[in-house]
Amino acid sequence: MKIATRLVNFQACPGDPYQPSTTPIYQTATFEQESPLEFGAYDYTRSGNPTRSVLEAQLADLEAGTRAFAFGSGMAAITAVARLPASGDEILASAELYGGTFRLFSRLLTRLDIRVRYVDAEDPRAFAAAASERTKLAYIETPGNPTLSICDIAAIAKELKAKGIPLCVDNTMMSPVLQNPLALGADIVVHSGTKYLGGHGDVTAGAVCVRDDKLADALYQVQNGEGAALAPMDSWLLLRGLKTLWLRVERQTANAGRIAQRLADREEVKEVYYPGLAEHRGAEVHRRQARGAGSVIGFRTESVERSASIVRALRLFRTTVSFGSVTSTASLPAHMSHASVPAALKARHSPPADLVRLSVGIEDLEDLWRDLDRALSVARDESRISVVAQTAATKGS
Ligand SMILES: *Cc1c(COP(=O)(O)O)cnc(C)c1O
Repeated sequence: MKIATRLVNFQACPGDPYQPSTTPIYQTATFEQESPLEFGAYDYTRSGNPTRSVLEAQLADLEAGTRAFAFGSGMAAITAVARLPASGDEILASAELYGGTFRLFSRLLTRLDIRVRYVDAEDPRAFAAAASERTKLAYIETPGNPTLSICDIAAIAKELKAKGIPLCVDNTMMSPVLQNPLALGADIVVHSGTKYLGGHGDVTAGAVCVRDDKLADALYQVQNGEGAALAPMDSWLLLRGLKTLWLRVERQTANAGRIAQRLADREEVKEVYYPGLAEHRGAEVHRRQARGAGSVIGFRTESVERSASIVRALRLFRTTVSFGSVTSTASLPAHMSHASVPAALKARHSPPADLVRLSVGIEDLEDLWRDLDRALSVARDESRISVVAQTAATKGS
């Protein structure tokens, strides 16, 4: 069955005697046991909960995996993966990552004596060649956040397999609807469920999906041992959001494709980052490994002030970090989501200061474009006025 069908057709309540047609919220911390010596399927919600189990089975299925683990946030999911290497080991990471991942890798993992090396992953050979005998995990994001750099998942997975290094891909930007890294040879997929999976901006969640039993057992140890599993109510919210994932992503991607093209045609816009544009670096690799370009667009204006004016002038695009929700949002990543890129890495890994990131929602395309068109004009007029004012001030002095 295709994903649109699987999203709504699955076992909603395995074992429930009343056969409810949607998954109930098992809002309980404990489960009574048959006897002190005979244990049922569940005993304690940190270790396992029926609502979360249904969600995890769904997530594993959607990512072409065998097991999945739901966490309280995307960062908790990534942290669980980062527990796989031991002290003294090394993680090889791509150079464009979500700001919070940089913070985890550079500020927290170093305390455990786990070193992370950042290497450009656009060239699969060069990336894999940078691995050393201490490298125990490779970690990439494609499209990268926020300039949407592309790396070739299958090529990187193949290079690393020869060296016995597991590859983890952050698939948040694409969602399982558009890209399935496990099917392309990756070993681990992580998601921030806060973005497309939930889709309504009302829950923070994360997921890790695998198809190898050993990795699954190791990840379950972390989920149960560290206790960052997703709560029953939030699991239910994610299950509810997932049902419309295909519809939302299809509509958002269609809207974004049109908007990216129109932005590229505007003179105020200097560069558009969107893997659906033929001129985007890596567009061809992306087309080979994904079924669409998604709904995050980056663009530059060559002036931080003008970029800020645009974001301020937008009305339908709310000034909000995050992406993937049904409502459109706009942000300046260098000053918002990526402000936590550590100073030492900033020069190389920080997004351009004038980069505007749009997350396109499910609204009417022409309403969204009118809003953008107006904001671009307001920003252009504002910068003209400030040039005139500056000239007048210079003359006056
Ligand atoms: C948001 C995000 C995360 C972190 O997820 P949270 O749910 O905010 O903890 C990780 N990776 C990417 C690509 C993200 O966009």
